[in-house]
Formats: sequence, structure tokens, C-alpha cells
Amino acid sequence: MRWQGRAGSGRVSTASGGRGAAIGGLGFIVLIAYTLLTGDPSALLNGLFNQNNGSTLSEAREVELTEFVSVVLADTERVWSDVFDDYGEDYREPYLVIFSGSVQSACGNASSATGPFYCPGDEKIYIDLVFFDELEKRFDAPGDFAMAYVIAHEVGHHVQNQLGIIKQMEELRKTVSETEYNALSVRLELQADYLAGVWAFYVQGYGYLEEGDIDEALAAASAVGDDTIQKQSQGYVVPDSFTHGTSEQRMRWFRRGFQYGDLDHGDTFNATTLSIMK
Ligand SMILES: [Zn+2]
Repeated sequence: MRWQGRAGSGRVSTASGGRGAAIGGLGFIVLIAYTLLTGDPSALLNGLFNQNNGSTLSEAREVELTEFVSVVLADTERVWSDVFDDYGEDYREPYLVIFSGSVQSACGNASSATGPFYCPGDEKIYIDLVFFDELEKRFDAPGDFAMAYVIAHEVGHHVQNQLGIIKQMEELRKTVSETEYNALSVRLELQADYLAGVWAFYVQGYGYLEEGDIDEALAAASAVGDDTIQKQSQGYVVPDSFTHGTSEQRMRWFRRGFQYGDLDHGDTFNATTLSIMK
């Protein structure tokens, strides 16, 4: 992706609080709780540190990634303002918060282990830049457009929020079973992937795409598929517990967004089948 030297968004901020302090504090609380339960804290602490990989970024890498995130966010502002314009609507731009270790959002306290997320309550995207290293190393999805896909997916949730879709989901949550809600969640997430694809379509139109970018995004979408993650983490898959969709579904809806580049072909909720394999 061509991003160096381009203007970034003015809506990126960095959450205060150092990584060391945040992880120390979190580890301490978890340690106490776990000790009370079993008397042996090592397993849980290992899990915690595995999630974070204990990795830190060099200052240069942090500066570079912050600039990258800012340019990608600016691209999402341009794209969604254009798209909303086409539909006679004004796009409300979200903020993006870069944090280290843990962060307080209107959706509660979150740690890096949560992964990047969007909070509808404060309309902010939260990301620990260390996740981008994990994307490359743990999820085996390297490349700048893999990272851009992650940001575009979260902005996709913001678009859903502005379209009223997240509010409808919150209403539905009160009336359906957990399994039914998981199935709805998959449709919500696949739609965010579709919207990330729409974003990529526009970015291509602006002339910023480079060869291999779409493959990088597809690799990232595949790496974060529920079946792939469950196979890696527990060795088997439990489809009823899927919340984000399979690797195949996530790639397909991203590709579809990239193909059509509009809001009209992304109705994952009324798609009769979400998988051509079924
Ligand atoms: Zn999502």
C-alpha cells in the first residue's frame, strides 16, 4: 500500500499509561483471583503473557506504525465520507485510540489480549500496536495491507453503528439464545469484512493499492477465521461457538466488498447461506 508521506488523520490519540505498569497491575489482580481458586498461578500467567508475547516495539517501529494507522484512518474517513455522500448522508468520523497493555473504554476495561476492538458507546477504535507484530508472527499474515484490513474491519463496525445495525443487534441479544446470538454475531462480523472490502475498492480507485495488497488482506481475514483459530488453539472446531465466521467466509465477504464497492451487496443478515460449502 502506498502510505508513506501521505497526510494522516487528526483523530488518533495515545492512551496514557505505560505497558509495564498496565501489565503489572493486571497480572497482580489475576494472580490473586487465580491463587484463591487453585493455588497455582503459573498456568494463567503463562496464558496471559502468551497473549501479549511479552513483546515490545522499538520506538522507531512505534512511530512508524502510529503514522501508518493514522494514514489508514484518514483513508477510511475519505472513503466513508464519499460513500455516505452517495447515499445523501453525512459520515460521522470515529476516533482511534492507541494503547499499551490495557485501556479503559466506554465498553469497559480491555487488555491487549482482547485484540483490536470498536466500542459503539464512545465511537472509538482501540488498538495495541503490538497486535500488528502478532498478526505477522502468530497469525502468519504479514504486510501493510494485512494491518490495514484490521483497521478497516473495525471502522466497518463504526459504519454499522452509524447505520443502526449495532443497535438492532443489542436489542436482539435480549431475546435470543446464546447460540442464536453467535450466529447473528457471525453475520455482523462478516458484514464488517464486507465493508473492509468496500474500503479496499475505493483505496484502489485512489491509486494507493500495490501488487499483493489484496492477497495480504485475504491472508489476514483467513488467519482470524473462527475455525482456523479454534483448530490452532484447541485442536478442534465448535461451529455453534463461532462469532466471527470461518476463514472461507471472511475471505469471501471481503472479496465481495472489494468486487462491488457499495453498500447494496453486503446484506449478510439476509444472505440465505453464508457458506457456499454448506
Ligand atoms: Zn469485528
